Amino acid sequence: MNYSSILEQIQKDIQPYFGKGKVADYIPALANVNPKKFGMSIHTIKGNVFEIGDSKELFSIQSISKVFTLALAMTLEKDSIWKRVGREPSGSKFNSLVQLEHENGIPRNPFINAGAHVITDILTSHFENPKAEILNFVNKLAKSKVSFDEILAQSERETGNRNLAMGYFMKSFGNIHNQVRVVLDVYFNQCSIAMSCLNLSKSLLFLANDGVAPSTGERIISKRNSDRINALMLTCGMYDYVGEFAYSVGLPSKSGVGGGIIAIVPGEMAICVWSPELSDSGNSYIGTKALELFVNYTGKTIF
Ligand code: GLU
Repeated sequence: MNYSSILEQIQKDIQPYFGKGKVADYIPALANVNPKKFGMSIHTIKGNVFEIGDSKELFSIQSISKVFTLALAMTLEKDSIWKRVGREPSGSKFNSLVQLEHENGIPRNPFINAGAHVITDILTSHFENPKAEILNFVNKLAKSKVSFDEILAQSERETGNRNLAMGYFMKSFGNIHNQVRVVLDVYFNQCSIAMSCLNLSKSLLFLANDGVAPSTGERIISKRNSDRINALMLTCGMYDYVGEFAYSVGLPSKSGVGGGIIAIVPGEMAICVWSPELSDSGNSYIGTKALELFVNYTGKTIF
């Protein structure tokens, strides 16, 4: 199937939606992005690539990094991960602290901030240089050299008091094993990674292919773990909008406050869309619309 004309149609259809969302500015360096950007790309497991708009432009992947770090942690540990992080949607904001108090410092899932801190703590325990290992892992998947955006990481380090508060709070329950500042430094860097839509749809294609990167045949994770990550993306990947998103799109997806969304069509393709203006839920406004349109035009949902 040739998706080029569908992407062209989507690009036309989304034009009226510019200006309806708002670029994230709680991390000051994120606010500098041009709100009018829109890019979308598809990598199929058969090796076809389709793209439109600003699909080659680098943006801050933010919480999409949580998919990479979870996959990496799952190659290092098995059930021990799930003693420290849950697998339920939180029903709260991604940076909420309230549940942690009731639930003894065990975050609901690995895609809210607190859960991602625990995953990053696991990587920090395993690796001498976790930042380099995360970059190596992403580079291997992207087959190109991605890097941290140092200005963005610094901006988040300076303003990330809520993330630090979460880290210290979980440490008080014994659920962060390394020094909080060290773990959070890794976390802020992983969120700052700059990638394009094309980089992301290529890198995360293994999740559409039972854990194997189709271009090299290399197994990244087991089939079961690939299925599990997809399950977690479907139930926890779109902030406090997962139910709506499952209803209107129906694809395992992960969103970031940089305006990127990665969506997986198991057995077929990975799709990435980027547009920086966010809805109240924190998801790319236009990115969400674009994925809805894609599914309406193609019928490609998991249901
Ligand atoms: N670095 C962001 C934060 O911790 C990531 C948020 C996101 O993309 O969901 O607030």
